[in-house]
Amino acid sequence: MSSSSEILIIGAGVLGLATAVELTVRGRRVTVVDPGGDNASSVAAGMIAPALECALENVTRERAELLREARDLWPEFAERIGVTLSAEGSEWCGPDAASVGERLLNLGFAAWVEGGVTSTPDDWRVEAAPAMAALRAWSGLNIVMDRAVELIPDGARWQARLQSGDVVSARSVVLATGPEAAIPGLTPEAVRIIDLIRPIRGQLEQIYGLQIERMRRGPGAYVAPMTDGVLVGASMDFDRRDLAPDSVQAKRMIEAAGRFFDLTSVGVRRTRVGVRGASPDGLPMAGALGEGLLAALAPRRNGWLLAPAVAQTVAGAIAGEPKAAFAAAFDPLRF
Ligand SMILES: Cc1cc2nc3c(=O)[nH]c(=O)nc-3n(C[C@H](O)[C@H](O)[C@H](O)COP(=O)(O)OP(=O)(O)OC[C@H]3O[C@@H](n4cnc5c(N)ncnc54)[C@H](O)[C@@H]3O)c2cc1C
Repeated sequence: MSSSSEILIIGAGVLGLATAVELTVRGRRVTVVDPGGDNASSVAAGMIAPALECALENVTRERAELLREARDLWPEFAERIGVTLSAEGSEWCGPDAASVGERLLNLGFAAWVEGGVTSTPDDWRVEAAPAMAALRAWSGLNIVMDRAVELIPDGARWQARLQSGDVVSARSVVLATGPEAAIPGLTPEAVRIIDLIRPIRGQLEQIYGLQIERMRRGPGAYVAPMTDGVLVGASMDFDRRDLAPDSVQAKRMIEAAGRFFDLTSVGVRRTRVGVRGASPDGLPMAGALGEGLLAALAPRRNGWLLAPAVAQTVAGAIAGEPKAAFAAAFDPLRF
């Protein structure tokens, strides 16, 4: 079967779906294709956490400003998709609490240190699985459960051949395929850029029956609230794509989290694993890759935080808007 769309988005992770929502709101006709099932977006902790992400990764003030601006797009985005945004802040519990507090202040975040704990109100969160469900169910989205297996240039359009044998023709194609390899048929320049994306496996332990008021981090782990328990995470396993639970990582993270959160009564536990795609500089690749071809890729460990910013950037590129701050920083052709 053949169908036609103005814009085809390949991949229904948080980047693909947020971009689909943004484009639909701007009046574009969008089709999303994805085989379904879990992805990095659905297993993630959902932290919208520029403050501690920046302080712990020791980034520049400019990068902190960019991530803060990306977070500030969230209240409107959360309201649009009908998702609860929790803004209870986060804490750092470690021997270096004072220096983490100082770093936060130097990066322009609010912070205070009390009793060996650094607190900031600048980190927010959503629950990833319900937020993904809300995105998928958002009215107006046309999601086709299938996999794109080949892209074929067709004059000023692209034809996407799907695993089912169906073909979708579109004027623009947005690649939002997470850490996966380049789809056959892409231009050599697009393949070169996608080949730069590094997979980073991440594992979280979901523990039922425990409660924590706000996200708490310490050396080697974090503990984040969820509806009926807590999430302990997350590993950063570079160049790994395997999805089976890794008991060594689970033990390591639970031991690390146990140093700043009482985990002595750990009961029912479930492991969640996903693979993040990371660009060489850790910022996403969002924008034009070539004629009618765009990227919404590689946000490393901040895909939830950056999704509304990526969506606006891709929609702006399709509309031919002049590049603003996000578009310059996320330009896939910067590599
Ligand atoms: C354990 C863990 C915890 C995390 N915690 C956080 C957090 O707290 N805060 C935060 O901001 N980020 C977090 N992240 C990172 C975040 O989840 C990712 O950056 C983000 O989900 C990436 O989204 P994506 O849309 O790029 O990719 P994905 O979620 O991987 O989605 C890509 C989709 O593309 C589909 N696809 C691929 N190829 C094709 C094809 N050929 N045809 C059709 N579909 C295709 C896949 O099936 C998949 O559904 C975490 C990640 C992990 C693993």
